[in-house]
Amino acid sequence: MPSQSATSAREILTGLHDVMASKASAQAKLNKVVKIIAEAMASEVCSIYLLRDGVLELFATVGLNQEAVHVTKLAMGEGLVGTIARHAAILNLAEASSHPEFAFRPETGEELFHSFAGVPVIRKERAIGVLAVQHADPRAYDELEIEALQTVAMVMSELIANAGLADKASAAGEGRAEGTQHLTGLRLVTGMGKGNAVYHQPRVLIEHTVAEDIEAERHRVYSAFSKMREQIDAMMGQAEFGTVGEHQEVLETYKMFAYDEGWSRRINEAIDSGLTAEAAIERVRQRMQQRMRQIDDALLADRMHDLDDLSNRLLRIVSGQLGTAAQAGMPQDAILIARNLGPAELLEYDRRKLKGVILEEGSLTAHVTIVARAMGVPMIGRIGNVRRAIAEGDLVLLDGGEATALVRPTSAIEEAFDTQFAATQKRRAEYAAAKDKPAVTKDGARVSVMVNAGLRDDVAALDATGADGIGLFRTEFQFLVSATLPRREAQQRLYRAVLDAAGKKPVIFRTVDVGGDKSLPYLNASPENEENPAMGWRALRLALDRDTLMKSQARALLEAAAGRELQVMFPMVSEPWEFDAAKKIVEEQRAWLAERKKALPARILYGAMLEVPSLAELLDILLPKVDFLSIGTNDLTQFLFAADRSNPRLAERYDWLSPAILRFLRRIVRAADKYGVPIGVCGEMGGRTLEAMALIGIGVRRLSITPVAVGPIKAMIRSLDAKAATAALDRLLARPPEDFRGALAKWAARRGVSMA
Ligand code: PEP
Ligand code: MG
Repeated sequence: MPSQSATSAREILTGLHDVMASKASAQAKLNKVVKIIAEAMASEVCSIYLLRDGVLELFATVGLNQEAVHVTKLAMGEGLVGTIARHAAILNLAEASSHPEFAFRPETGEELFHSFAGVPVIRKERAIGVLAVQHADPRAYDELEIEALQTVAMVMSELIANAGLADKASAAGEGRAEGTQHLTGLRLVTGMGKGNAVYHQPRVLIEHTVAEDIEAERHRVYSAFSKMREQIDAMMGQAEFGTVGEHQEVLETYKMFAYDEGWSRRINEAIDSGLTAEAAIERVRQRMQQRMRQIDDALLADRMHDLDDLSNRLLRIVSGQLGTAAQAGMPQDAILIARNLGPAELLEYDRRKLKGVILEEGSLTAHVTIVARAMGVPMIGRIGNVRRAIAEGDLVLLDGGEATALVRPTSAIEEAFDTQFAATQKRRAEYAAAKDKPAVTKDGARVSVMVNAGLRDDVAALDATGADGIGLFRTEFQFLVSATLPRREAQQRLYRAVLDAAGKKPVIFRTVDVGGDKSLPYLNASPENEENPAMGWRALRLALDRDTLMKSQARALLEAAAGRELQVMFPMVSEPWEFDAAKKIVEEQRAWLAERKKALPARILYGAMLEVPSLAELLDILLPKVDFLSIGTNDLTQFLFAADRSNPRLAERYDWLSPAILRFLRRIVRAADKYGVPIGVCGEMGGRTLEAMALIGIGVRRLSITPVAVGPIKAMIRSLDAKAATAALDRLLARPPEDFRGALAKWAARRGVSMA
């Protein structure tokens, strides 16, 4: 049976429905609305204030003096109405004048009324107005009356927005309850960016709030719940092999809420009061948010946040608004906000419009971070409750290097940011001007500084940075951005374009590295659930088992490099025989082409990635076979430390500048030197100045790094004495201090090594 609140709200909503459907002017409609509410609630006064030009204006009233309409205005935070709007919170007072914020407005004649209840009218999470009732008797309104008032306010927001009466809720900063917010998270990709917040999964805009057919709305919610539960169950299954961004713990909570009967019951009650399915979900969500504001418990706030997330998911399902912001079209300067993203999801965005990314989760070596780095998009992670802190449309100043985001800045803050931004641009310009200076240390050691790439446009980085070549071309990026398996011709076209653009500079193509957190929906790469995807059936393991993919890629590479040099390397080689097997596939394709008298590469160089520790024990067997070796520190360190590179909890736990890693790497470098095999580092570690200095200290002479790091790394190299660095590293590694990083940084500072 519908509750009492449902019946009283329903009575009002039926009236409102007719008003909204009528052809009257917006003002006439509002006049009618206040009348309906006042009658239904037996209230002596009912008034609507709307936010216009930043102030709350009395738009319609019964009970107060009509002369006050469009005359009485209150600033945000001023009086009871302004307080409600500022905090988007309810006020329920038996004696209005005793509230500290009460502001008496003689023109209204409100001195006759003692009790006051007001609720915010919310649009896109911001108050765009206030709906208030007043009585002469001092009385507090009961919960049911407040509930009815809120339901009505929700319907009003539709009417107001459709008529364009109030300030647009999306206008940055306006009508926003909080002022500037300073958020600090985890540094993922350095760089600065300025733009307006865009949710990866946009908030659903509710078009219709009043139900035409309550049974039909109930049914819609019912099927949306089933669909959502199905989705969550599927995600729980997939999460075990890491194909979705969300983590297990979050999903557990999701599941708990998705099956929570209390939640679905409350939504159904809201539908009974006359709301559409969307409006009912939103209504319940708002109510929860209000409760949340009153409870100061971080844990509970987190749970509520999950429920909020889930409400949005349910809303998306019920309204059919399922696309991401990438599909919906983005504004010019956007800062993307998401809980987490997969690499393919990020690649869907137009990098020219994307000025930054803020994630609630995120870790340094997760592939989405690498993709962001490749796209040159600053990114920070680990910002809790990001959707509460940043609303859609908010202006955000992002500093990836400092791992900070300034939300809704004042103009003074914005100016300071712009100045700093200009300074970094200037520094970039200086790096660009120095791009042709070779990366030679003060004592004459030449370091080859190459870039990591994966997209066609990345090749432009070669010229822009003056890098020595592409040390890692992640061929799987083409597979990740494609909805279907890229054909051999498409692969060949990309490789040829890359080689053409690189000209004389070398390019090292890495064969497809999928699996782990780079899943391809069309490949069905992990038929069984893997408990440990990073250590699972991925990269070369998958490629050798399913060699059709590898064969076709090998052919594409050989054809693209006809008449030129082809450098190819294999990911995740764990034992030398895997290198042999992979090389054999390429050689067979070469023979096939040769038989048919097709043009062949002038020379082929074969390399292996060293990213699985077992291979380091078999270097005496491997090294004589390979033309070069490339250390993938992202994977290598996760395996060395048994610390999942995608797990945000472990993001700050292990340091690349740890003696274990550096000693391990030094051993590999020394072995390669002994065999005369060129060796480089292509993990993210090499793109950080202090880390790169340490790598040079242990003997590394080839780095392949993210393009934006080339300038600072070259500057570091040119200010470094390599022999002195080696001596320092030997000393520190012999007796590692507790704070290895600190000791190394101090050494660099003493020696005047550039650490920009
Ligand atoms: C690595 O593991 O260090 C590496 C360069 O490869 P990826 O990050 O693509 O796994
Ligand atoms: Mg790797």
